[in-house]
Amino acid sequence: MKTSGEAGSTGIGWRDPCCVGGRAWKRGVRKLPALALAGLSFLALSLPVGVVAAELPVVKMIATGGTIAMKIDPVKNAPVPAISGEELVATVPGIANVAKIEVLNLANVPSEYMDPVLWVKLQRAVVEALARPEVAGVIVSHGTDTLEETAYFLDLTVDSDKPIVLIGAQRNASEKDFDGPRNLLNAARICVSPDARGKGAMVALNNQINAAREVAKTHTSDVETFKSGDFGFLGSVDHDRVVFSRAPLRRQHVALTREKLPYVEIVAMYGGADGTMIRAAVAAGAKAIVVEALGWGNVNIPMYDAVREAIAKNVVVVVATRVQNGRVLPVYGNKGGGQTLKDAGAVMADNLPAHKARILAMLALQTISDPVALQKLFDR
Ligand code: ASP
Repeated sequence: MKTSGEAGSTGIGWRDPCCVGGRAWKRGVRKLPALALAGLSFLALSLPVGVVAAELPVVKMIATGGTIAMKIDPVKNAPVPAISGEELVATVPGIANVAKIEVLNLANVPSEYMDPVLWVKLQRAVVEALARPEVAGVIVSHGTDTLEETAYFLDLTVDSDKPIVLIGAQRNASEKDFDGPRNLLNAARICVSPDARGKGAMVALNNQINAAREVAKTHTSDVETFKSGDFGFLGSVDHDRVVFSRAPLRRQHVALTREKLPYVEIVAMYGGADGTMIRAAVAAGAKAIVVEALGWGNVNIPMYDAVREAIAKNVVVVVATRVQNGRVLPVYGNKGGGQTLKDAGAVMADNLPAHKARILAMLALQTISDPVALQKLFDR
């Protein structure tokens, strides 16, 4: 299948967007709604020579909401869900030169409303789309607040070589510098890039590509917010082509076998934590608790006591760290130190932050609960 994501084929860059297509193009622009203009103002558009629409691969765009689907409500004077997947695609007419975009409006919610029920629904839609031979990849438009959780969930549960590209926007569709259109166009270009295959779910904003397992939102408002800590970006979406500098080496597949995932809670360690929240999670029926510990994976004595109580009641305890880089390791031997938590039967979350460790635990607990088997999954 001919793809159009590579050098020189998209008609993007190297030309002043204002001049592309000449007068006819400008006349057409005048007729477009304001929203589309936001996209057109910086994205050059032209059909690549020799490429006809019929030859283009299909890219499925699954819309779930987030700032990328929001506009300012004049009464509330605040961004609220407003635009559909089709309206978002209409902000980038040039995307039609890259792929045939099919839209599915799965939800239109801020991503703080995403939950395991929606993840499962989304996963089913992604799997269905990728199973079609003519589909090159899937784009998921999503709020940025929990984007990395959804990305990791899909990375673990979708068994396909085809790319899944998650996008969002830091600026909403009412703002002059709305970043949604560029991110959407870039996502389509990644989907049709042969180099994107085998890299799983990726988060792509601000021309930068991150791997699902590593990516984190690092800034509340900057457009450069998604980063991969010590590991750095996977690649970038340049004017001429999509460039990958490395591959994510720690990907694994954990099949989604249930409609309803086990209840896993997250409890934070902090100066003076007394274990109340661990006991509350056990009482509420948690199958596992991810403790967001300190440093190498350390807690104080009251938290340690609560962890031991939980494990005695057959609740799995996973130890992650609130530190952004590095792995948790059973190093310290004082009561509550990582070594003593490990000895008490806790599972160490490697370098996964608590919210991603929770996702791996939820999926793993569908079929296994033995801490030794669980540890192997976290070590992979
Ligand atoms: N609260 C929004 C969300 O995650 C923020 C965003 O999309 O950037 O849905």
